[in-house]
Amino acid sequence: MDFQVLKDSVYSSPAFVLDETEAAKALAMLADLRNQCGCKVLYSIKALPFSAVLDMAKPFVDGFSASSLFEARLAGEVLSGQGSIHLTTPGIKTDELDELSLLCSHISFNSLTQYQRYAETAGALTSIGLRINPKLSFLHDDRFDPCRQHSKLGVAIEELSRSIGLDQIQGLHIHNVFSSTDFTPLIKTVEKLQHYLGIGLAELEWLNLGGGYLFGQIEDHRPFIELVKKLKNDFGLEVYIEPGKAIVGQAGHLVATVIDRFVSDGETIAILDTSINHHPEVFEYQRQPELHEHDPDGQYSAILAGCTCLAGDVFGKYCFKAPLAVGDKVVFNNVGAYTLIKANRFNGYNLPDIYVSNSLRVKKLKHYDYQDYRRQWLAD
Ligand SMILES: *Cc1c(COP(=O)(O)O)cnc(C)c1O
Repeated sequence: MDFQVLKDSVYSSPAFVLDETEAAKALAMLADLRNQCGCKVLYSIKALPFSAVLDMAKPFVDGFSASSLFEARLAGEVLSGQGSIHLTTPGIKTDELDELSLLCSHISFNSLTQYQRYAETAGALTSIGLRINPKLSFLHDDRFDPCRQHSKLGVAIEELSRSIGLDQIQGLHIHNVFSSTDFTPLIKTVEKLQHYLGIGLAELEWLNLGGGYLFGQIEDHRPFIELVKKLKNDFGLEVYIEPGKAIVGQAGHLVATVIDRFVSDGETIAILDTSINHHPEVFEYQRQPELHEHDPDGQYSAILAGCTCLAGDVFGKYCFKAPLAVGDKVVFNNVGAYTLIKANRFNGYNLPDIYVSNSLRVKKLKHYDYQDYRRQWLAD
């Protein structure tokens, strides 16, 4: 990404820029992994369901994974029959089951009660599995940990073998890490699965290993390749992965402009024409996003703040080589996943325009305006 171009160009501000080169890199890397071990790759569209991303991913993946009826519909529209759609969610509703079963090739029920309620109907149309909670925590923050105490996600592994025969389902689904840069959790999880289910695994057709691994930031893919080959070999399983952030995380930039600058209790405050409402995880998890202009040795510091009424609408304190001035543009990096999808128009500030860029071109794909805001808030 040429950041000068990003800042000099005709981008309106704030802008979300989809970096096609980065996304293509991630997709090619995963396609290569798929060739090496024979796993199937699904894009977990909840990370960024923008159509340009889905169209781009389509030739490189075996399908999409979805968390809801709307995601399944969108996935179905883009794939138009050319690929699998996997669904797992605690949120299946009775009146959505028929459509979900038609749309999805695979459904992993989140609980035994969900399974008992829906498996018979859905099973006539789609491949049925269960989401398993392996009860192995690799995260210190409960908010991200599907295996926390009293988890709502998946059937406890020790309960599975007691309650239903593996001959009654076609597959299993596991997902128990977040942004992992190491395959150890996956290896330990599969070991535990084998310990509990043993050769019973051979009764299944597929195993979905979930998302949560940042494949692009893991040097050595060999442990993963060996694991998948072994699962295919020993049990005849089709093995799926469903990365989200690993595909789009590094493929998004948020460009914003400084619209005011002043000093507050001795610190420079730079107000941006964006806010944490365009990147809600900054506030949700109190994480400071990476800023392209930040220079740890820079002598001029400023607190970058959003433009809404919330006192805590703040991105954090950054250092710069030169003082920030009104009109300067700044770029937040690695904001491709879980940003736009969570973005909102709190305070009536518009959503960013969406651009796609590669080494040859920059193109505006989406612009929201007052009519979109009005449509959302005027009663029918
Ligand atoms: C969120 C999620 C994913 C994708 O996770 P990433 O961290 O974006 O790779 C995949 N599968 C399930 C079940 C999920 O909840």
